[in-house]
Amino acid sequence: MTTPVRDLPLLLLGEGSDPASERGVDCPGELPPASDPALVERARAAKAALGDSVFVLGHHYQRDEVIQFADVTGDSFKLAQKAAARPEAPYIVFCGVHFMAESADILTAPHQKVILPDLGAGCSMADMATFDQVEECWDVLEDAGVADDVVPVTYMNSSADIKGFVGRHGGVVCTSSNAKRALDWAYAKGKKVLFLPDQHLGRNTAVLEMGFSLDDCVVYSPHRRGGGLTHQQLRDARMILWRGHCSVHGRFSKESVDDVRARVPGVNVLVHPECRHEVVTAADQIGSTEYIIKTIEAAEPGTSWAVGTELNLVRRLANAHPDKNVMFLDKTVCYCSTMNRIDLPHLVWTLEALVRGEVENVITVDEDTARNARAALDQMLALP
Ligand code: SF4
Repeated sequence: MTTPVRDLPLLLLGEGSDPASERGVDCPGELPPASDPALVERARAAKAALGDSVFVLGHHYQRDEVIQFADVTGDSFKLAQKAAARPEAPYIVFCGVHFMAESADILTAPHQKVILPDLGAGCSMADMATFDQVEECWDVLEDAGVADDVVPVTYMNSSADIKGFVGRHGGVVCTSSNAKRALDWAYAKGKKVLFLPDQHLGRNTAVLEMGFSLDDCVVYSPHRRGGGLTHQQLRDARMILWRGHCSVHGRFSKESVDDVRARVPGVNVLVHPECRHEVVTAADQIGSTEYIIKTIEAAEPGTSWAVGTELNLVRRLANAHPDKNVMFLDKTVCYCSTMNRIDLPHLVWTLEALVRGEVENVITVDEDTARNARAALDQMLALP
């Protein structure tokens, strides 16, 4: 097992059961400038001094002040692959969250060190499925006599420990772009799937893309004895969803969709599949972060888009496409609070330390976990 960033989740956000407890706050005006302008010059100078020895990855949900220093931007899997394709860079600075840095460490060469500028940058969704909880769940499935029928599938947004667990049990990792292909593969192999840790991506894919009914799905709660399910429910279910969700996407509601449709005539509602089922069924289009970006880029001038994903990305899309009316789906602003822990002061601190020859905040996955996690990642790459 890898060492967790900390024993407790960074944010106790509803313990995976109550998205309504995670509402943001109203922000009536413009946000203040994020950082001291002198830091921009310091970041530039440190990066220039480091040259090709450092490769900075920037996830789409990062702040503008950080993303300007990224050598490449993308979703978590694309970024890990880009880092692996740059073995000449011994230092990978991952501006994203902890599970992403772990994936990069798994996929990069042994001499490459992956650095997370702030160790507090976790992910509330990944924190909702711990290794011990998932081991306990598997015991429950064995007691119910269904474990042999179950293929575990984990979303990329999970810890290395969970990816390792899935690899050890013959399962696969998926992204929001290939979840259907991963599930098709899993159901060709077994009768049931345990989908970790995002119940919404699992449910939305099963119901909207594979023709399952909502009754084919049950939700396993790690906070309840036996997951809160009877053995019979586990035997009857085709899809066993882990009770986890994204604290950003889980906050959009059907009311957000109804409200924007009432306010903006002709608006197109475009949401990420981590949103709740009632939201994606009310939306016009559903897709991964990359899909959202491509859709806005390809949209006709003058069209209106209410986008249900992280606010940093939506604001950048709006600024990059002034000929289109791009807005955040909800009236209440909400950044991913853990993604936003990576700010310019942390990036400058990390880069200047490297210039001095000091390597801070290295993320390392132990070899046993990495081998099993790699098996699940390789299986994803081999999906038909
Ligand atoms: S946006 Fe959601 S899934 Fe992504 S890092 Fe933040 S909490 Fe985790």
